Amino acid sequence: MINKNFRLPLAVFILTFILLAFVQIKPERPMILAERFLKGSGWAEIFLISCYGAFVAFKMQDPMNVPHWRKITWTIFSVVFFTQLIIGLSGFEKFLMTGKLHLPIPMMILAGPIYRGQLSVMTILFLSTIILTGPAWCSQLCYFGAFDNLASGGKTSKEILRYKGAIKTTLLVLVIAMALILRWLNVSLLVSTFIAIGFGIVGIAIMILFSVKRKKMVHCILYCPIGTIVNVFKHVNPFRMYIDQSCTLCMNCTKFCKYDALNAQDIKNLKPSITCTLCGDCLAGCHHNSIKYKFLKMKPEHARNLYLILTISLHAACIAMARI
Ligand code: SF4
Ligand code: SF4
Repeated sequence: MINKNFRLPLAVFILTFILLAFVQIKPERPMILAERFLKGSGWAEIFLISCYGAFVAFKMQDPMNVPHWRKITWTIFSVVFFTQLIIGLSGFEKFLMTGKLHLPIPMMILAGPIYRGQLSVMTILFLSTIILTGPAWCSQLCYFGAFDNLASGGKTSKEILRYKGAIKTTLLVLVIAMALILRWLNVSLLVSTFIAIGFGIVGIAIMILFSVKRKKMVHCILYCPIGTIVNVFKHVNPFRMYIDQSCTLCMNCTKFCKYDALNAQDIKNLKPSITCTLCGDCLAGCHHNSIKYKFLKMKPEHARNLYLILTISLHAACIAMARI
């Protein structure tokens, strides 16, 4: 019989290994980085990354550890992604996925296909993560959101972000309209790229100016249109978060939610608001164990374990895969 503490890590190890094995046995250009340098070594990388996934699961199975380890692992994800991009752009093409340049700004996942009239690999990858894990893209898988997570610091403030819905909807519509206009006017790729870079720079400025000050992920909550799409389309996946009747309205969990999803009214409504990414940080802030994961008819602890298995495995597999 396997010790209770090792079941979750083992499940993550196996799932990560299987996911990456499918990629490794693909006959075309090797997708696992090590395989590009030495034939057969991709299996060693898969083993190591699966061990990494198991280690993260071991740490995160205790809800108290989630805020700390999610911050570390999400940062690692982003550092690996951008380091490979920089090395790849410096002339070492093996560090790029296809070699086809794609601006690493999340907005491009939406605006790129509209402008080109063609789906991109990144868009397909993004949509697949929503189907598999709901909003986990915005809590562990996005290369850009990790910076907003860092900018918002440790414990968050109780200050409410006002006019969330109106700001998010307006920006989403503007981005779609802009991409359509650029396409209809046949604006050159160079000019469109500069506009996209400008959008990314404004996003970084928002992190520095607002997320740091407000101690919330203002960029991801209000500005990023991909975050808005995640907020809406996450409902295609059955995972949910709710607060049960044992809640004493102490409001301690509010300090743990950087996504502005646990304001006083949300807690009274017994469910986080639409910006919740199921990150699980708030579980560490609830001394009454009142915040729970839900998946169909499963018990809450089983639903949480299933969510951790899926998201951590995907996170680990994406570390091996997420390149441009
Ligand atoms: S809101 Fe945008 S930048 Fe933030 S995590 Fe989601 S996709 Fe990434
Ligand atoms: S309500 Fe909880 S799970 Fe949802 S985003 Fe906030 S901290 Fe994360």
